[in-house]
Amino acid sequence: MNLYTVDSGHFKLDGGAMHGVVPKSLWQKFNPADDQNLCSWAMRCLLIETGDRLILVDTGIGNKQDERFFGHYHLHGDTSIDSELKKHGFHRSEITDVFLTHLHFDHVGGAINRMDDKLVPAFENAVYWSNQAHWDWAVHPNDREKASFLKENILPIQESGQLKMITCAEGEEWLPGIKVRYVNGHTEAMMLPLLSYKGQNILYCADLLPSLAHLPLPWIMSYDMRPLDTLAEKTTTLKEAAEKDWLLYFEHDAHHEMCRLQQTEKGIRHQDTLLLSDL
Ligand SMILES: [Zn+2]
Repeated sequence: MNLYTVDSGHFKLDGGAMHGVVPKSLWQKFNPADDQNLCSWAMRCLLIETGDRLILVDTGIGNKQDERFFGHYHLHGDTSIDSELKKHGFHRSEITDVFLTHLHFDHVGGAINRMDDKLVPAFENAVYWSNQAHWDWAVHPNDREKASFLKENILPIQESGQLKMITCAEGEEWLPGIKVRYVNGHTEAMMLPLLSYKGQNILYCADLLPSLAHLPLPWIMSYDMRPLDTLAEKTTTLKEAAEKDWLLYFEHDAHHEMCRLQQTEKGIRHQDTLLLSDL
């Protein structure tokens, strides 16, 4: 297996919403805010190359919404999925599978493109993977989460015939070397791939732990549907990760790609940070 970072670009979100009950005096040291209280966040996808498959985990925000929508999110950075794939020697037509951790717009926006007035899969030869519980939740959204589930990102995947559902049980292998963890605090049945790579385990954290600053247990996003479930899921995940020396891969941290963990007097914290390319 080979793994490659695919940095699909950066966007901005409200610092308060991203850090939940934590006061700004604490979080601004880690994720500094601009004069509108917005912090910069990565949308860091992951490319997995196995024997016969090229799998993209998440797709960033994409480019098909209007100026008014993107006006809220201040896209920045000079990378894109295409430039990153090119850097690693690939093209989007070679992607065989798109693994969608969940269907919030900053994870699935790049899955569908607008071509003239049609919405079409951005990865023409790929199977798109979700799971039934999350899919049903996303296509019948509650009013609090509705703004994150945009129909134009989601329904065309099914209409294209390229959608499939992951059915493996919690912690079981989906493909050789790729296990799936399910968590329900951020949204219903978000999927976290746990990868076996060069003798180590790497957990793709998606929105369970969006950034390095979110390691302390009470640092939970206000966006989460069930924050106490996130608290329990963070507790068990970090304990297992620290005990088994897993590496954590952050989708949204603007500055840190991965970290190792250590147990400290204050709880589980990072030991050091690293890049996938360091392994
Ligand atoms: Zn999310």
